[in-house]
Amino acid sequence: MSNYSRFSRRRFLTTAAASGIGAVFLKGCLGNPPEPVGTAVTEQVEAAEISPEMMPETTKVVLGYIPIVEAAPLIVAKEKGFFAKYGMTDVEISKQANWASARDNVTIGSEGGGIDGGQWQMPMPHLISEGIITNGNKVPMYLLAQLITQGNGIAIAGKNQGKGLGLDISNAAEFVKNYAKTEGRKFKAAHTFPNVNQDFWIRYWFAAGGVDPDKDIDLLAVPPPETVQGMRNGTMDAFSTGDPWPYRIIAEDIGFMAALTAEIWKFHPEEYLAIRADWVDKNPKATKALLKGLMEAQQWIDGVNNTEAVVSIVAGRNYFNVPEDILVPPYKGDYKMGDGKAEIKDKMMGPLYWKDGIGNVSYPYKSHDLWFLTESMRWGFHKDAISDIDTAKQIIDRVNREDLWKEAATEAGFTADIPASTSRGVEKFFDGKTFDPQNPEAYLNSLEIKNV
Ligand code: CA
Repeated sequence: MSNYSRFSRRRFLTTAAASGIGAVFLKGCLGNPPEPVGTAVTEQVEAAEISPEMMPETTKVVLGYIPIVEAAPLIVAKEKGFFAKYGMTDVEISKQANWASARDNVTIGSEGGGIDGGQWQMPMPHLISEGIITNGNKVPMYLLAQLITQGNGIAIAGKNQGKGLGLDISNAAEFVKNYAKTEGRKFKAAHTFPNVNQDFWIRYWFAAGGVDPDKDIDLLAVPPPETVQGMRNGTMDAFSTGDPWPYRIIAEDIGFMAALTAEIWKFHPEEYLAIRADWVDKNPKATKALLKGLMEAQQWIDGVNNTEAVVSIVAGRNYFNVPEDILVPPYKGDYKMGDGKAEIKDKMMGPLYWKDGIGNVSYPYKSHDLWFLTESMRWGFHKDAISDIDTAKQIIDRVNREDLWKEAATEAGFTADIPASTSRGVEKFFDGKTFDPQNPEAYLNSLEIKNV
């Protein structure tokens, strides 16, 4: 069997097991020749000398991803050979149909045809570990690194132009709240999975402008293609989304950008790498090898001269499967906003992977986990399981493995980039609010719209 046949069969088994529609797939598979693999040939880095004490326990892991810019470091680490450089020669990067599939696949693990870990919105690793979004089935996970900052935004359907829906929507709040009077239905907004990043970003943005996302509008999880279709035909008003969608919203005349998440909270935490705890506990050296490969990929992606190369890798048919020209502008921080707003042209406003203006992007600061769990409390999510700040901190201490990140960075020689503290300090939002990790209660008290 060739490598490709093995891969193809494995992918087929994974898909069939996860979807429960094996019979349908089997029929299709037998009737159709395999598709060619459409990746451009990428020049790989050389393998490193690996000392016996750093030799990974296994060369193999299956990591899930969603085809958005957050996944770029995983894809680049594989395609450029950064994982292989540290001995992880058999990393499978497995495209997930959606966040629910990723969650379901990690609960079964790679041995059951699923995945060992991969890319997550926050705080999915914490919620899966606690059994909160897995019907009580606790699958302990370790948070190992942040993949990216920024690269997300709030898009608005074209029909709502000229109403003041920008970064600060104070002057548009009445328009949004009274939407039903003119449109016969509430203002309708979508994200891709409840109670995680994209839900938090749009909630923060609405609430900062005086709109209660639980009372004044309809906010729900919708698959991106359906959301975009709804924005075109006038049945969907807003979309909390990530690159390359913000660029496409403008380029394809679907609507405009109200705000980039980089404007809402500059250098905010975004998506993360997390792997099942049982896999990490069994393979600590392999985990650190993965982290070293990931860190090199993150540094390489940030290199100003590598943008076109990064895009040619991730845009490929077996990854994002999008034209390269829609990915180059966001990677350079070039965003047309629409609705009369000035264009943004600043690499520090686009997706960043290794360094931002205030810290290390890759480092999994516990202070950021704490914001996600505090924000969960703000909106009354998982009230029973995450009842107070102390409980949140205990969950974080079980899930966050910044210690492994530090060990890997030390072994790879990136000691200068290791942050001095697990807190990035006081975080500042566009509306003047601050989150002091030493005093999350003060943050909660400062917010007018909440569901505590
Ligand atoms: Ca995202």
